[in-house]
Amino acid sequence: MKLRLATLLLVSALNTPAADRPNIIFLFSDDHALQAISAYGGRFKDIAPTPNIDRLAREGAIFERSYCANSICGPSRASVLTGKHSHINGYIDNTNREFDGSQPTFPKYLQKAGYQTAVIGKWHLVSKPTGFDHWEILPGQGSYVNPDFIQMDGSTKRFEGHVSDIITDKSIDWLKNRRDKDKPFVLMSQHKAPHRSWMPAPRHYKLFDGMDLPEPETLFDDYANRSDALKKQKMSIANDFQWAHDMLLPGKPVDPRFETQLKNGESMRMTPQQKAEFDAAYGPENEQFIADLAAGMDYETLTRWKYQRYIRNYLRCVRAVDEGIGRLLDYLDESGLVENTIVIYASDQGFYLGEHGWYDKRWMFEESFTMPFLIRWPGVVKAGIRSKALIQNIDYAPTFLEVAGVPVPDDIQGRSLLPVLKNDGIAPADWRKALYYFYSGEPTHRVAAHDGVSTGRHKLFYLPDTREWQLFDLEKDPQEMRSIHDDPASAGLLEEMKTLYREMRAHYKVP
Ligand code: CA
Repeated sequence: MKLRLATLLLVSALNTPAADRPNIIFLFSDDHALQAISAYGGRFKDIAPTPNIDRLAREGAIFERSYCANSICGPSRASVLTGKHSHINGYIDNTNREFDGSQPTFPKYLQKAGYQTAVIGKWHLVSKPTGFDHWEILPGQGSYVNPDFIQMDGSTKRFEGHVSDIITDKSIDWLKNRRDKDKPFVLMSQHKAPHRSWMPAPRHYKLFDGMDLPEPETLFDDYANRSDALKKQKMSIANDFQWAHDMLLPGKPVDPRFETQLKNGESMRMTPQQKAEFDAAYGPENEQFIADLAAGMDYETLTRWKYQRYIRNYLRCVRAVDEGIGRLLDYLDESGLVENTIVIYASDQGFYLGEHGWYDKRWMFEESFTMPFLIRWPGVVKAGIRSKALIQNIDYAPTFLEVAGVPVPDDIQGRSLLPVLKNDGIAPADWRKALYYFYSGEPTHRVAAHDGVSTGRHKLFYLPDTREWQLFDLEKDPQEMRSIHDDPASAGLLEEMKTLYREMRAHYKVP
């Protein structure tokens, strides 16, 4: 029986003219930091492993120097779709902005070339998806609990369950039952998790319970030796977490060291039965904490408690994403799609898991500038490659175009990764030597506007509001604890990096 099925699959593949053009499954999550993927190493690798994401690294390639162009949700997605920096695709920040869906994007090019295109899950670009044969998206940030999905006819439907499971179900259902099996396809399966506010799937409520998860060395960073702008942002674990929204604590805050405005909107979406399960899981720890707080808790102890609660819920949310990816990879095995399907796992940017005392993103520091990027492509990408090529999210669109046999238009700013992928992860001699980065500044988290360049070894960025340069040597100072822009010994380096900054701004046509 098995043999006959295999023969049938083979015959059907041979009869499909597009079989030589691989399918693409683009698995994308939101705010998933490299530090929380065990294939990247990091402090959680043995405690909170991600075996299914790791499988892609084992069977394909993992990129160790992968970066975004602008470390925030919407702009990163716009760069992925267009292959262009924010100032060209127009989506420079998340405020009062709609993605201009009339511009060329890789799904449009692939659709024109005969690919079937679909996006399921988080979209977050305000305007409706264009260039997709099928889409079903979360409104805005979407919800973890019993999420709503916008349908192609404009209506909204609610589905009971946890968002990560539902996005996986819908993605597998599209692969299995809804696509045109005579066409190659690109499926963007895009998770909401592990975006703030962190509400795990009920089966993970007790995961890591009672464990003391490791802290980063810089949890109590005092921001000395860098711009004062670092002290002004509002994304600090110690000071800016919301009592209910972030910490999932009940009722109103009983301590002034919590922000108070936002409610726990996720628990408000629960059915009475779901709420009872949530309360039973978190209740005893909440009661203990509130009692400890009333008895008096110093700043450090409280910060450590906030960190533990944050990181447990974050890693619980990651677990559901990883399990979903496992289910999807299993489906590819069972269906025989595995051989001719490229699978990518990435996230829209990195995240602070307590490094520099922060949560959130936006800064050009490594934790939020990096993006995970893993790719499996049987027969093309050798298994187990760890690439050090400098890549950026503007490279994905031209890569997909080249995969589909579509010529890459000149106005695309990224570069196809195929030469790297086909060369065991080693960048060709003419590969880029540096990356350009831009962040617009926004009032909510008060991270100052900045833009800069990184060679992977040295990083220079400019803060226009205070007219400051910041320069880091990532080899000597990987945690970026000291800007050497005013160090006399670095004067030559500063000039070199300033020249590079000007050249790259000119190259990418930055206004
Ligand atoms: Ca994000």
